[in-house]
Amino acid sequence: MPAPHTDNPALSAIALFLDVDGTLIDIAATPEAVSVPAELREQMHGLALASGGAVALVSGRAIANLDALFAPLTLPAAGLHGFEQRGASGVCRRRDAPSTAALEVARGAMLQIARQHPGLLVEDKQFALALHYRGVPQLEDTVLAAMREVAARVGDEFDLQRGKMVVELRPARATKAQAVAAYLEEAPFAGRMPVFLGDDLTDEPAFELVNRRGGLSVLVGAPRASAARARLADVAAVRAWLAELQAQPVAALGRLTAEALEGSGRGDPSRGRPPDLGLRSQVR
Ligand SMILES: [Mg+2]
Repeated sequence: MPAPHTDNPALSAIALFLDVDGTLIDIAATPEAVSVPAELREQMHGLALASGGAVALVSGRAIANLDALFAPLTLPAAGLHGFEQRGASGVCRRRDAPSTAALEVARGAMLQIARQHPGLLVEDKQFALALHYRGVPQLEDTVLAAMREVAARVGDEFDLQRGKMVVELRPARATKAQAVAAYLEEAPFAGRMPVFLGDDLTDEPAFELVNRRGGLSVLVGAPRASAARARLADVAAVRAWLAELQAQPVAALGRLTAEALEGSGRGDPSRGRPPDLGLRSQVR
């Protein structure tokens, strides 16, 4: 099917960046326990075609893992919070990797923490290491303190990244903002208005970048302090909005843009939120 983007000027004017876990798919008990439903894969494929290919996944997962989840679809993707990046041309770039020695030290220390505290899960992403405490949320303070010690031991090759029920060592200075900025330098993303949807702390630098570039930053989830200027309630609301974006892009973008301009989407409950956006998009 030829890309119909010439028929769809609104979609040809935006560059769409999507976090995956907690944004496109619900977070599961373990990272391996998620799957991408066929309709989501088809939705992504449709949006990619309709936008002229300006749809990218920007995730904490490795690109290889994203490809396995979305197979046979391969989208432009940034993995490990911006450490690795595949453009629309298919060319992959990677930032400087942490040393094998530092990775070994971190891995050993984290496995030891997990042995001491049953219920913790070490996720080895090759160039990043995550310690999940979803099964034992009462250990949050313990996990954070232990991971700060590990981070201090491995020095400046890693940054500590907090997330939902997870603390991660990611390669230093790799951020989702850098990934989005790099996409905005290359076709077909360049010259378009960036739209970024994400749910977690690792998405905040990308929200800030998108705000600086005059784009639309969208927090997914319950209201909280965030740089994002619009909000969608949950994964279901994201999927409904993406469907609307493809069918009626002007209306879909207009609604979230209006919310962003109102300044009501920052997630601060004290500001008094309007009725839930996800619900509104369902009833319209
Ligand atoms: Mg996420």
